[in-house]
Amino acid sequence: MIAIQAESTNPYQLAMQNFEKAADVLELKEDARAMIRSPERVLMVHVPVRMDDGHIECYEGYRVQHSTARGPAKGGIRYHPGVTVDEVKALATWMTWKCAVVNIPYGGGKGGVRCNPKQMSIHEIERLTRRYTSAILPIIGPDVDIPAPDVYTNSQIMAWIMDTYSMTCGHMVPSVVTGKPLCLGGSLGRNEATGHGVFVTVACACQHLKLRLKSAKVVVQGFGNAGSFSAHLLDGAQADVIAVSDSRGCAYDPDGLHIPKLMLYKERTGSVKGFPGSESITPEELLALDCDILIPAALENAIDGRNAGAVRAKIVAEAANGPLTPEADAILDEKGVFVIPDILCNAGGVTVSYFEWVQNEQHMTWDLAEVNSRLEKVMNRSFQEVLDLHQERKVSMRTAANVLAISRVVESNNFRGLYP
Ligand code: NAD
Repeated sequence: MIAIQAESTNPYQLAMQNFEKAADVLELKEDARAMIRSPERVLMVHVPVRMDDGHIECYEGYRVQHSTARGPAKGGIRYHPGVTVDEVKALATWMTWKCAVVNIPYGGGKGGVRCNPKQMSIHEIERLTRRYTSAILPIIGPDVDIPAPDVYTNSQIMAWIMDTYSMTCGHMVPSVVTGKPLCLGGSLGRNEATGHGVFVTVACACQHLKLRLKSAKVVVQGFGNAGSFSAHLLDGAQADVIAVSDSRGCAYDPDGLHIPKLMLYKERTGSVKGFPGSESITPEELLALDCDILIPAALENAIDGRNAGAVRAKIVAEAANGPLTPEADAILDEKGVFVIPDILCNAGGVTVSYFEWVQNEQHMTWDLAEVNSRLEKVMNRSFQEVLDLHQERKVSMRTAANVLAISRVVESNNFRGLYP
């Protein structure tokens, strides 16, 4: 039995617990751990924004570069009322491991602004974005640190970031951000890339567990970019997506929701709540539904020591970053649930971001088939590498992914001569 005590909800502390576990497997010495445990750079900024009614509001923002051992820092920007420096540090750390696990030549970074974009006008969000960009401008750039979308940021916001950066250079610099609109150097396939990567890893997991994807019951928590495209692709493969949720409510249909119609409904109404023909259930009931595949695709710590025991899925695919606390991990492990860890499961987004950056740097555009076939190759190979380590070392998929990632970062540091 696992004792249930109040566990930390600090994402950075939780990220560090998983780091130490993998470092133990690798028998890393303390000096090597110390070098990659803490972020290389943490920038905190205050962003004054003139609101539509004329008054000025000050927002706190961050940009964290956890590691540039393997290349420029790479990671999204989050606009959310819950943003803290420790959350951004955790997300930047996960980006380092994520880029390493799929073996793309980037380090890890992340940014965030504590704000509630749902209560701001489009003009206020534009002014916030331009001011925040100018505040972090000294530490971003195509060869230094390349932002991308994350929770409540999108291609429009990336376009404003690129424009603000480009204004200071006197010419357009598309490769300073990824996740841009297509007409400004965005890549085909980027919008759905995270969901596409989730889909590939879920298909690999089903194959490994000899579980049929066709008619498998799927539950998705968080119907935003990552969650909705994961659901859409699984629906396309004839899985039954029986329940989805967002911050406002849930939609449940035991016979399977019509995902294309639900996507249009969410676009029109702003929520999945009240989707015609669906039943409304509570977020707790959603996590406890009898299903084959559960996809947490919202925020960190969604499944913790208190609710993990209720999970009945065979596979948990972490489309979100850090949705399981270490205590939840232990409980799911004991129940025999196969967890596809975030740094592997949702790496499709950063992989196609990398493809976008490569296309921008080379002044080339790839067609969708090329983007998707390269993405599938990366995701299939990475899943297999993590699975091999999981089986060889007899560790969880999460520890295996962390071991693979951390060993690659340490190897880069060794070759660069950063260790004695
Ligand atoms: P998004 O803003 O497009 O969507 C977030 C969704 O989560 C929204 O539908 C929101 O309503 C919902 N949500 C928020 N709180 C919720 C709650 N308590 N319960 C249920 N739903 C809730 O964001 P996104 O880009 O899809 O990011 C979601 C997660 O995926 C984050 O953890 C993010 O870091 C991760 N991720 C995103 C990408 C990407 O390319 N977008 C890549 C890798 C990882």
